[in-house]
Amino acid sequence: MKDFCYHTTVNKSKKEGKLIIFSAPSGSGKSTIVQALLSKGFNLEFSISATSRAPRGNEKNGVEYHFLSPDEFRAKIEEGDFLEWEEVYENTYYGTLKSEVNRICSVGNNIVFDVDVVGGINIKKMYGDKALSIFVQPPSIDELRKRLVNRGTDSEEKIEMRIAKAEEELAYASEFDQVIINDNLDKALESTEKALINFLNK
Ligand code: ADP
Ligand code: 5GP
Repeated sequence: MKDFCYHTTVNKSKKEGKLIIFSAPSGSGKSTIVQALLSKGFNLEFSISATSRAPRGNEKNGVEYHFLSPDEFRAKIEEGDFLEWEEVYENTYYGTLKSEVNRICSVGNNIVFDVDVVGGINIKKMYGDKALSIFVQPPSIDELRKRLVNRGTDSEEKIEMRIAKAEEELAYASEFDQVIINDNLDKALESTEKALINFLNK
C-alpha cells in the first residue's frame, strides 16, 4: 500500500493527508459536486489531471486540466510521470501526474481526484483506507443524456460516445466505498458532505 504523505502540524504532531476519489459517468454532476465541496474549507485541493483532449467551453490550461498533445502525453507515459492513466475514450488520454499528488501533499492538503471508474478503482487499491472512493450515479441514462445536452459543451457524437461508456461504467458502482445518487443536487451535496466529514474524522 502506498503512503500518501505526512506533514507536520503546528503542534509538531505528524498528520497524514487523505485522498477522496470521485468517479462517475460523464454528465452525472461529479464536477458540480466536487466544485461545491472544494469551496467548503475541508483542506481539500483538486488534483489537476493531464489530458490529450482539447479544452471545452471556458476551460483553461492548468486550471481544469493540463492540456497536452497526444505526443506530449505519450512522452510523459514513457517517462513514468503518471500515478495512473487511461485511454478513457478512443485516442483520448487522461492521467494523474505524480508531481500533482506530491505538490498537494507537500502543502499538507487532502487531495480530491476526479477520474474515470477504472482510475478510481486503481487509486483506491493503491491507497486502501487512506482513500475514500465515491461513485456519483445519475438517476437514469435518459436524465444523463438531458444533462449532457443542456450542458451544451459536447457535440451530438461525443454525447452518444459518453452515453455508451456510461452504460458500462454504471456496472462498477458497487466497487466504490460510497454511491451518491445525484437526483436532487442539494440532497446529493448533503450526503457527500456527510460521507466526507465521517471519513476525515476517522
Ligand atoms: P460531470 O462532471 O459528471 O461530467 P457536470 O457536473 O458537468 O457533470 O454536470 C453535468 C450537467 O448537469 C451540468 O450542466 C450541471 O449543471 C447539471 N447538473 C448537475 N447536477 C444536477 C442535478 N442534480 N440536476 C440537474 N442538473 C444537474
Ligand atoms: P471530461 O472529458 O468530461 O473532462 O472527462 C472524461 C472522463 O475522464 C471523466 O470520467 C473523468 O473523471 C476522467 N478523467 C479525468 N481525469 C482523469 C485522470 O487523471 N485519470 C483517469 N483515469 N480518468 C480521468
